[in-house]
Amino acid sequence: MCPRPPPALLSIVIPIYNEEQTLPHLRERMTQLMADLQPAVELILVDDGTTDRSYELLCDWAKADGRVKVIALSRNFGHQLATTAGLRYARGDAVVIMDADLQDPPELVPAMVQGYCEGYEVVYGQRTERLGETAFKRYSAFLFYQLMRRLISPDLPANVGDFRLLGRRILSEINRLHERDRFLRGLVSWAGFPQKALPYLRQPRVAGETKYPVLKMVRFATNAIVSFSDLPLRIIMWLGLGSVALSALLCIWAVGSFFLAPPGLVPGWASIIVILCFFSGAILSALGMIGLYVGRIYTEVQRRPLFLVAQTRNLEEPTAAPP
Ligand code: UDP
Ligand code: MG
Repeated sequence: MCPRPPPALLSIVIPIYNEEQTLPHLRERMTQLMADLQPAVELILVDDGTTDRSYELLCDWAKADGRVKVIALSRNFGHQLATTAGLRYARGDAVVIMDADLQDPPELVPAMVQGYCEGYEVVYGQRTERLGETAFKRYSAFLFYQLMRRLISPDLPANVGDFRLLGRRILSEINRLHERDRFLRGLVSWAGFPQKALPYLRQPRVAGETKYPVLKMVRFATNAIVSFSDLPLRIIMWLGLGSVALSALLCIWAVGSFFLAPPGLVPGWASIIVILCFFSGAILSALGMIGLYVGRIYTEVQRRPLFLVAQTRNLEEPTAAPP
């Protein structure tokens, strides 16, 4: 690894969805951070189709400070796509991705820049503890990371969110990827380059509610698994083979009992029901799983743009054209 000078410009990308309560806190902390940081900073705030006053607050902020740039998406595209939009507009030599709710302390950014200067392409924040989150959220997150490490690769760091610094080199590779159902941290892990972990304490939200209800979490996890692994398909193939073996045994048993059963007995009702239920269930779940992948192929071949921009403030064109 080669040490290098600090980035001439650092971009900080923050996706925002209905955060009117957290924005004043964010503004205060980011203004402080920009004053303390040595590299020049551009803040890219992506309004992900908010329905509260967040957009007005963002415009006020952009008016008062030219370093603050706002991208308003035409509707809610979700956290991962909003972040993607920000990454495509970022002009910095390095980019930091951060949540708006200050769960990721901005004070960690100088240490990330330090990692960049040491030559790392990725410096990701690793949560040593999650404060102010429900036991359910912590436990489901734990299970999710265990599963993803098994499915994607054991290199995928556990307890790592999207709070991270990316160097320009890896960023331009990520910007070239066109897949729709993006699991950004999986993509970054896939891209490789020298990566460094920075342990930190995950703070509670400063204000407002989580924008990730259970259903969105489930969708996020399914997307992550389906976009990085064909293990579910292999599992159903093995289940299918297992069922064939099982039904061969059942056939032997059925033929045997046909010859051995005492006259007058009507055998087989219960076993038919059991077999019917088992196999129709197995077939349906297998079809559903295949359907998940076919559905993804369908949305990927449509090649619609990943997001639509309605308005921008203090910004011209994206630096990365859609691939
Ligand atoms: N977010 C977004 N679009 C969405 C949902 C969330 O841009 O559809 C933003 C949200 O404003 C926040 C970040 O993504 O800046 C993380 O969301 P949140 O804090 O609600 O998730 P949690 O930390 O609870 O997992
Ligand atoms: Mg949060």
